[in-house]
Amino acid sequence: MPAITPTWALGDDAQGLGAKSRGSCELGVGPAAKPTLKNGAASMALTKKGEFWYGTTSGDTQAELRSYSVANRHEAVRFAASKCDCGCRTFALQTDEEAGVAIRTCTDCGREHLMGDSADYVEEAAPETHECVCENEVFELMSGVSVYEGTHDVRWYYIACRCVECNLVGVFADWKCEAGDAATFLTKV
Ligand SMILES: [Zn+2]
Ligand SMILES: [Zn+2]
Repeated sequence: MPAITPTWALGDDAQGLGAKSRGSCELGVGPAAKPTLKNGAASMALTKKGEFWYGTTSGDTQAELRSYSVANRHEAVRFAASKCDCGCRTFALQTDEEAGVAIRTCTDCGREHLMGDSADYVEEAAPETHECVCENEVFELMSGVSVYEGTHDVRWYYIACRCVECNLVGVFADWKCEAGDAATFLTKV
């Protein structure tokens, strides 16, 4: 097994970053009575405990990402789940929202991957590790993008996580992102 060499060192004051609030906006997760499958979000099994949302599937993560993006006024319309070349779907996540950089590290093979167009900005970035409220640092990752009206060009990038320990789902990072074609961008998450 190859050694895991962290290419992007963290500062001493690096703190864990958790799920972000989407405010009081409850759009998209209203009464779950109707099994209408809109926008491919097949599951509406999100439940709220305290200020956090919990789910069990990638559909739940996608639904939470979409709700957050609607509250952010840049609705995500395309989504993609992260999968390592080795087939593994769980990762540690580091981001720097100011720089527009996200790095996922496979929990199985240790491979680091710069998500989306992160490679273009990593030089100036100081990525910090994300940690769940339960202190776990292993997540399934779902990316979503909004696009400029009438185009397929990325406008805003969202990264949502589902904690593999406690099932918390939430958007952990998002930023304005001008990365061109959304489909191409999402093959690189
Ligand atoms: Zn891997
Ligand atoms: Zn957790």
